[in-house]
Amino acid sequence: MADCIFCKIGRKEIPAKIVYEDRLVVAFDDIGPQAPTHCLVIPKAHYETLNDVGAEQEGLLGHMMLVATRVARDKGIHDKGYRLVANTLAEAGQSVFHIHLHLLGGRRFAWPPG
Ligand code: 5GP
Ligand code: ZN
Repeated sequence: MADCIFCKIGRKEIPAKIVYEDRLVVAFDDIGPQAPTHCLVIPKAHYETLNDVGAEQEGLLGHMMLVATRVARDKGIHDKGYRLVANTLAEAGQSVFHIHLHLLGGRRFAWPPG
């Protein structure tokens, strides 16, 4: 999508600290980290919210989770623990409407979330 910030990161039209990339996804450091490790895993293809992803993209969603675990390992938080978050629509606080998995780690998190 032309004016989507995460599509632009996927196409390298705006800079990001990319920590992993393959044919389907990109992972990069969040610009406003909420934890010592805070990365985002996005598909290169544009989907506004998880509600827009059909069953035919089951493999893509699984791939995003596996990439997140790989980045967690690379960042050294794999054994201590980490949290994956996919904020979806207004009540969850989604602010960028291109699906993404937050990978958060390096500190202890509260539950339930705020
Ligand atoms: P959401 O609120 O949609 O779940 O998460 C969006 C995330 O994208 C936020 O954590 C925000 O800091 C991050 N973000 C927004 N714009 C940019 C950007 O231009 N570059 C990077 N690296 N992260 C961004
Ligand atoms: Zn997009």
